[in-house]
Amino acid sequence: MTARLDEKLEPIYQDVVRRNPGESEFHQAVHEVLETLGPVMSKYPEFADHKIIQRICEPERQIIFRVPWQDDNGEIHINRAFRVEFNSAMGPYKGGMRFHPSVYLGIIKFLGFEQVFKNAITGMPIGGGKGGSDFDPKGRSDDEIMRFCQSLMTELYRYLGEYTDVPAGDIGVGQREVGYLFGQYKRITNRYESGVFTGKGLSWGGSRARKEATGYGTVYFLQEMLKARGEDLEGKTCVVSGSGNVAIYAMDKIRKLGGKVIACSDSSGIVVDEDGIDLERIQRIKEVERRRISVYADERPKARFVEDGNIWTLPCDVALPCATQNELSGKDARELLNNGCTALAEGANMPCTPEAVRMFQEAKIAYGPGKAANAGGVATSALEMQQNASRDSWTFEHTEERLHEIMVDIHRNCYETADEFGVPGDYVTGANITGFIKVSNAMVAMGLI
Ligand code: GLU
Repeated sequence: MTARLDEKLEPIYQDVVRRNPGESEFHQAVHEVLETLGPVMSKYPEFADHKIIQRICEPERQIIFRVPWQDDNGEIHINRAFRVEFNSAMGPYKGGMRFHPSVYLGIIKFLGFEQVFKNAITGMPIGGGKGGSDFDPKGRSDDEIMRFCQSLMTELYRYLGEYTDVPAGDIGVGQREVGYLFGQYKRITNRYESGVFTGKGLSWGGSRARKEATGYGTVYFLQEMLKARGEDLEGKTCVVSGSGNVAIYAMDKIRKLGGKVIACSDSSGIVVDEDGIDLERIQRIKEVERRRISVYADERPKARFVEDGNIWTLPCDVALPCATQNELSGKDARELLNNGCTALAEGANMPCTPEAVRMFQEAKIAYGPGKAANAGGVATSALEMQQNASRDSWTFEHTEERLHEIMVDIHRNCYETADEFGVPGDYVTGANITGFIKVSNAMVAMGLI
């Protein structure tokens, strides 16, 4: 890890490492939060008296279970699934499910830990959790995906509930998977409990603008960071890693606000299109045809596909990492800075390594950490829960307006908190402290839980 911890916080961190061996992403996420908490602990001595940090770093409940399923040839497969119910001081556990072969307990714990603070920052009444499986959906048929989702939910349903734990999508889990998961929950429980899952389809309890929310919200946050510096997106060249839900709608909003996206990526490589990425085409390839991004360049003579290319070597004004954790290294950060990048907002969770984050902060570029910048997704999930609870369905305009207000508030809170703690423009500190104080106050109020 890069920065040193306050002397009172170092032993707490060491204890987290000792109690969670081998979970490097979780260690990284905890360290990154603790680095910023020194001044809070001096200002609020009651948090130390109540051992708040030690309690926040230990999930309330962790569930690990077997998911057996049969492929189209009748062969049996066994996957492992997780749900980490991290903290419910602010509301029911809330956070997505990730299906990806890299998933193990340490990834789910890091995501769950981040989610606790992110969800508190949104100002909505939701606690933090995360789940997932090491299942690889790549190349699987629709039937196989359905059987896997049904098997997973046959175990998971007993831990969920609209007042208990409310999952959603994440990498590898979109509306199709949410449908199969929610359908099996409904069948087993004999309850149409809409508020138990978010990211649902529009005709069965979903919210307008949920699909767009993470990407749109990330760009709204970026817009606020730029505004604070007297700038805007007009004419700015942007690169966006990824080509999933977050990346697609981030690109869409950048374009609407006058920016130009010249590149995006998937795990096979990058596409560069100096004319501006044709979004409809990306959307068709990734969401409808479910193919690799390489085919993008086939019909666009000016575009090029670079197999295993590194998107961060392209000159740009703005970078939006929207793929996955630790996708942007210190070396990449150096390259971006040398090439003139002045703003970066994280659409993915923890996409920049600690070294990269330190370099962006030292260079004093506008740097928006995921817990604040990508919180629009989960905030709109909370709006979905609100619509479900009141059996209502809002218009797209109204929902997007609420999302916009929430992102403006998140930015303002983080900005003002950074100022208050003597680190103006440091959104990492601003976001961590804003989230931490909210959760800690709730925990102190509720006694030793
Ligand atoms: N997976 C998203 C996130 O990382 C959304 C979670 C949700 O909507 O519950 O915040």
